[in-house]
Parts: sequence; structure tokens; C-alpha cells
Amino acid sequence: MTMTPFEIEEELKKCVKCGACMAVCPIYRQTGREDMVARGKLNLIELIKGSKELPAGWLEAVDYCLLCCSCEENCSKGVKITEIIAAARVQQTEIMGLNPIKKGVFALLKNRIISISRFVKLGSFGQWLLWQRLPRHSGLVRRLPLPGIDEKTVIPALPKRNLDDLLRKQRAAAGLQPILFFPGCATRYLHPQMGLDLIFVLEKLGFNAIVPPEFKCCGMVTWGAGDESTSAKLKQANLKVLHENAGIKQLVTGCASCGHALKDYDGRPQNCEILDISEFLFQHREKLEDLLGKRKLRQKITYHDPCHLRKGQGVSKEPRWLLNLIAGENFIEMRHPERCCGAGGTFGITHKELSRKILKEKTLAADATGAGIVASGCPGCILQLTEGAVVAESDWQAEHPITLLANLLHQTEPEER
Ligand code: SF4
Ligand code: SF4
Repeated sequence: MTMTPFEIEEELKKCVKCGACMAVCPIYRQTGREDMVARGKLNLIELIKGSKELPAGWLEAVDYCLLCCSCEENCSKGVKITEIIAAARVQQTEIMGLNPIKKGVFALLKNRIISISRFVKLGSFGQWLLWQRLPRHSGLVRRLPLPGIDEKTVIPALPKRNLDDLLRKQRAAAGLQPILFFPGCATRYLHPQMGLDLIFVLEKLGFNAIVPPEFKCCGMVTWGAGDESTSAKLKQANLKVLHENAGIKQLVTGCASCGHALKDYDGRPQNCEILDISEFLFQHREKLEDLLGKRKLRQKITYHDPCHLRKGQGVSKEPRWLLNLIAGENFIEMRHPERCCGAGGTFGITHKELSRKILKEKTLAADATGAGIVASGCPGCILQLTEGAVVAESDWQAEHPITLLANLLHQTEPEER
């Protein structure tokens, strides 16, 4: 996953310093600083060659990046900017070590001391002491003053039972075609209902979702943070599961970041197609159209493109096809749906102020549509958008398209008049 020093050098040579990346960088839009945009970052990264000392300004420049791929999408020379920045973070980690908070979180992903599953379950018992439910949205906000957390910061409610627990009680109907489902950490541990929704839709289409409990975190967040060894371990564990299930021809995920990471795994079985759920549903569009019949969403709905889906995987038409199918004329595009929401893995936690400024553009665009629902195919974006709605006191809810589709399929089809 991480580039070698030779590969970095070759990539850096491709940059012609044209500055086209400036037009689309959300960090540059907010800060106006040249060292914050890809061109400036690459200049600094070039300076470190072979050195064990970080040049002045390096830390800020390398740290202030959402890995949103916007610059990459706009770069006519095809410079692999996000890979270079991630590799620079690895170099930084080698010299300075990992931030202690990230170190603790990533230890959970590796099941060190306590597994992530047990950690979430323990947390679910005590969460009500410090956190309270949001009245109009899903998620929790603090009950009492907490250091570094303001009253509008939204965290997910920790469920007592994760997706694996819930699936233990389920039995698939006979005759279904097997398909792998990679839920990702957010769906598996924080939003298991989203996983059940996806499985329900797959079943309706004739597929039995196999969710191997051995699947680990996809490694995107550790890769973005410069923790190369954890990313490599997670990737190897997932590759082992993929090879053990090599007879299954397709894998779906409802998480944009997981899909982006999995599609980039070198050494994965070539006969297994990795698909975002919107791509999979598009492949089965005729059957889904028949299944849905006349059922349609009555609320206005708009859509935010997750960066790791649109720019990371080039998937933007399929989610729009899906939203048109379930909402018809009630689906309205927002201004700049492609712009990053400011979540960027852990960026929304570590750079709250800047992240909120980027988020504000998104909430204003969503507000302007008059929609009651903002759909997005990424659990990280959904959490960030929910916080945006809370901060701006907006009326809309952020939802995954698969939840909307599953809810519609649960409804009875309206009678012909
Ligand atoms: S758009 Fe690409 S080639 Fe142009 S300055 Fe940015 S990184 Fe370099
Ligand atoms: S990845 Fe996004 S935030 Fe980072 S430099 Fe490129 S456009 Fe800016």
C-alpha cells in the first residue's frame, strides 16, 4: 500500500507545478495557504529526500490533509498525491512516533489488550452517564462539559450488540447465491442496523450475504495516519479471508472508505469482484425496479458524494441512479455534491475547527435544497453530516441510501387506483 522512496521520487517528478490542485482543495479554500495545497506539500516532501530531519513547516503541511483525492482527480499529470502524503506520514511516524491517541485507537483495531468489540460493548453500558441522545437525529452529544468536546460534537450511540451478535440469530433462506459482505468497523460495531438493511436487500435480490467474523478493519484509517505496520497486518488478515473464500465471485460493502481500500489491495484474488453496494444494485437494476414497484420516498432528498466513493473509486452515477429510483422527482442535487464534508478519517476529531468550516459549506448546500434527507454512502460522512445538521440547526437527517431502500422494501406496495 505504501510507496517506496523510489516510487515517491518518480511520482514527484511528474508534478509540473501548474497549481490546478489549488482550485479544488478544501483546505486551501479555507486557509488560502500555498503550503496547505498539494503543490506546496509536494515541494516540502521533496526536501526530505534521505534526510532524518523534517523541514520547517512539514508537520503542518503533511498533517493538514483530508486525503480526499480532490487534487488527484483534478491533476492532469495523474500525480498520486494522496499516496505520497500517506507515505510522508509514514516517514513522519518513523521519525517522531505515532500520536498517543491514535496509537491507543489502532491498538483496538489489532485486538491488543482488549478487542474493539468488547471495548464498544463496555462503553455502551456507561455512555449514558456522559452522553445523551440527540432529540431529532441519531447519535449522542455530551451531557456535561468535557475537555476538548463542545456541546455540538456528535458521537455514535454504542450498541450493546454488534453485527456479528445479531447475525448469529439469523438463518439465511435456502437457495440463495453466496456473496461476501465486508461491513467495515463503523457498520459492524456502531451501526449494525445498517448492515442488517444491506443484508435484507441482498436477500430480496436472491443473495446470501456471508460476513466472515475474521474480517478486520480495512486499514484505511491506519494507512492515512502513517501507521504502516498496522495497515499491513490488517490487510494481510483480510487477504487471508478473501483467499479462503475465493470461490465466492463478488464482495460488496456499504462503506466508501472500505471499498476504496479493498479495491487497492494488491494480491487479492482476481476472480473476486469488489463492489460498492450501489454498483452491485445497479448490476441488478431490472430486478430491483420490479421489487420496488410503485414504492417511492415522499420526502425530498439530496446526496453528498463520499470522496472515497466518487474520487477514490470513480463511483458517482450508480448512487444517483439508486436515489432516482427510490425518490424520483423528490431527488434534488445540492450545489457541489462532490465537495468533501471535512470528515477525512480522524481529521474531524484532530482538526475540529477547520473541519467544521469545511462542513459548513456542505450544510449550507444541503439546506438550500430544502431536502429532509441527505443521503451518503459512507458511515463516516453520515456522522459528520449529522454533526453539521446539529451545528447549523438544520431539519434534515443524514442517511445511508441502503437504509432508505430497505425501509421502502419493508413497506406494502400502494394499491393501483
Ligand atoms: S495539479 Fe498536479 S501537476 Fe499541477 S501542481 Fe498540483 S500536483 Fe502538480
Ligand atoms: S487530498 Fe484533499 S485536502 Fe489533501 S491536498 Fe488534496 S485536495 Fe487538499
